[in-house]
Amino acid sequence: MPTLNADLHCHSVVSDGTLTPEQLAERAAANGVALWSLTDHDEVGGQQRAAAAARANGLRYVTGTEVSVTFAGETVHIVGLGFDPEDEALQAGLRATRGGRGARAREMSEQLAAVRIEGAYEGALRYVGNPELISRTHFARFLVEAGVCRDTGEVFRRFLTEGHPGFVPHRWAGLRDAVRWITGAGGIAVIAHPARYRFTANEEYALFSEFKTHGGQGVEVVTGSHTAAEYARYADAAREFGLAASRGSDFHSPGESHTDLGQLPPLPGALTPVWELLADRIR
Ligand code: AMP
Ligand code: MN
Ligand code: MN
Ligand code: MN
Repeated sequence: MPTLNADLHCHSVVSDGTLTPEQLAERAAANGVALWSLTDHDEVGGQQRAAAAARANGLRYVTGTEVSVTFAGETVHIVGLGFDPEDEALQAGLRATRGGRGARAREMSEQLAAVRIEGAYEGALRYVGNPELISRTHFARFLVEAGVCRDTGEVFRRFLTEGHPGFVPHRWAGLRDAVRWITGAGGIAVIAHPARYRFTANEEYALFSEFKTHGGQGVEVVTGSHTAAEYARYADAAREFGLAASRGSDFHSPGESHTDLGQLPPLPGALTPVWELLADRIR
C-alpha cells in the first residue's frame, strides 16, 4: 500500500521535540496517520510510552530512533525502524552517542558568551526534557526567547552552524556502527533526509554505497525537509541503489515545524515502501 498514511519520523520531549509521546500520538491520530513511529535522536527512552499511546489512539506502531553519524566530515542522520528497543548493543551504542553532548553544549555556550550572549547553557537547559539529550534545538529556542533571533530558522542561519558562533564540531557514531546497532537489534536502517547534507556527488554516492554494504535497507524519499524535486531525485536514488522508501514529517513542534504529522504527499510510484519490509514488526 504505497498510499498508506505512514509517518515514520518525529521527535518528542525525550529528544528535541516539544510534545510528549502521548500528545504526538493524539495529534498523529487526529491527522489521519495510520502507521506511526517516534524517532527521538540517539535515544529509545520514549518507545514504551509511544507504543502504549499509539495503541490507545488506534494507531499501528513501529519502534524508531534517529542516530547521529559522522560521515565524510559531515553529520548524517540514520533512522532505525522496527528494532527491539531492549537490545543491549543498541542501547550501549546510543548511550555512547549521547555521551559527548554535555561537554559540547558547554563549549557552544562559551562561544556564544564570546559574542556577548550570556547564560546560553542554562537557558537551553530550561528547554531540555532529557538531561542526556541537550541539542542545538534547545539552544535555538533559548536564542529566540532571549530576543536574539525571531525564529529558530534564523538561529540556524546566524548561529550554531559551521562558520557561525556556537558551532562546535562533533564526532558522532560511525556509519557502520550505527547501521549494525539497528540491524543487530532486528531493525531496518534508513538514510534520513538525504538532500540536507552538503555532499559532493562523489561523497553522496559513497554514503549510499557504503550504507548498502553495511546492511542499510532504506532511504527517506518523502520528508518534511525535502522539496517536490527532491522527492523525485531520491526516488531515483532508491531505485538505483535498491533501497526501500520511507516517509516521515520530522515533526518537532507545532510552532516550529513546517510539516505537521501525517501531512505529506504519498510516496512516488514504483518504490518499495519500508513498511512492506516491516510488516512483521508492526504492533
Ligand atoms: P544536534 O543533534 O544537537 O546537532 O541538533 C540537530 C537538530 O537541530 C536537528 O535535529 C534539528 O532539529 C535542528 N536543526 C538543525 N539545522 C536546522 C535548521 N536549519 N533549521 C531548524 N532546525 C535545525
Ligand atoms: Mn531534531
Ligand atoms: Mn535529522
Ligand atoms: Mn529528525
